[in-house]
Amino acid sequence: MYKIMTPGPTQVKENIRLARAKECTNPDLDETFVEFYKETCEQISRLLHTENETLILGGEGILGLEAACASLTEPGDKALVLDNGVFGKGFADFVSMYGGQPQLYTVDDKHPIDPKALEEFLKENHDYKYATLVHCDTPSGMLNDVHALCPLLGKYGILTVVDSVSAMFGEELDVDRAGIDILCGGSQKAVSAPPGLTFVTISGKAKKAMAERKIPIASFYASLKAFEGYYEAKWFPYTMPISDIYGLRAAFDNIEKDTDMLARHARIGNACRQALADAGLKLHLEQGFSNTVTVFDVPKETTAQDILAVMRKEHNIMLAGSFDTLAGQVIRIGHMGSNANRKDMEEAMGALEQALKSLGVGLKCSLGERFCELMD
Ligand SMILES: *Cc1c(COP(=O)(O)O)cnc(C)c1O
Repeated sequence: MYKIMTPGPTQVKENIRLARAKECTNPDLDETFVEFYKETCEQISRLLHTENETLILGGEGILGLEAACASLTEPGDKALVLDNGVFGKGFADFVSMYGGQPQLYTVDDKHPIDPKALEEFLKENHDYKYATLVHCDTPSGMLNDVHALCPLLGKYGILTVVDSVSAMFGEELDVDRAGIDILCGGSQKAVSAPPGLTFVTISGKAKKAMAERKIPIASFYASLKAFEGYYEAKWFPYTMPISDIYGLRAAFDNIEKDTDMLARHARIGNACRQALADAGLKLHLEQGFSNTVTVFDVPKETTAQDILAVMRKEHNIMLAGSFDTLAGQVIRIGHMGSNANRKDMEEAMGALEQALKSLGVGLKCSLGERFCELMD
């Protein structure tokens, strides 16, 4: 078994794995399951600091993003797609797939989206039903300031869809303070349950927009409206993946007890970035570093493939490359959720040091030792 130090899926703690092995009931007919589902949704809302309703959907993270766009988009609707990364741009596909007109707001992908520049842009351009934004764009590790950006959009009545799949619980997120209308999360990033579930929080304004649609949502599985009244009717639109939800609940119970979670991510993120920079490696971004993942450029002496292969074969540790425009260009260390602990990070940084040396990359200091010093 590899130690997976990837930016999702992450390592999964034993109590979560065991919760998934619990005896199953019929989730369609057993009313105790409806209560359990609702309670878990309420717990998620609480942890995300929102009064908005949460729904857990039976599908991987991508389903949440698609469901948000499917449920809000009517043919011809304009959506502003804020883009400074792969997932940012990717939202445009979901908008057009459901008949909407995406307008890309594309900015430099080495810096977070600048609230001042967006504010200026919106003065002239604000005729959008909704906007999409990624909190942490994982392929580059870009963190956008959702608490500054979403209120600017809200001021013009533009609904906000935010993908925080890889940021939530590793970075601060207060859904109500940001005024996020649909927030998308996933089970396999900082939440640190296995992949397979997505959850969304939905504001009253987003519900109103769905209720006022003239044309029905062009999907059943990706329809957030399909859950309307599920609790009163004790009826889900489709059979809920009960074992996955038991696991997710255990993951949120862990998070609820973990009062040091955000501070720990900050300590580890800072030490990881600083150690890499001190060793002479180049962080991929200029600004906007997420504390959930660190991304550095592949040194010219070697290739991403070779670094990842040596890490796996010699050290039994899995790091990640990246994809799309970043394929082969960078290495990603995922220090989110259960990966964000000092012991695993020390091991990963020590192993990375040896792997890079064996591939002919000269380092200015010991990655492992520097990381430890910075953590002390
Ligand atoms: C992981 C992730 C998702 C979910 O998609 P995957 O299929 O796991 O790639 C969505 N958004 C972001 C920003 C993610 O990091």
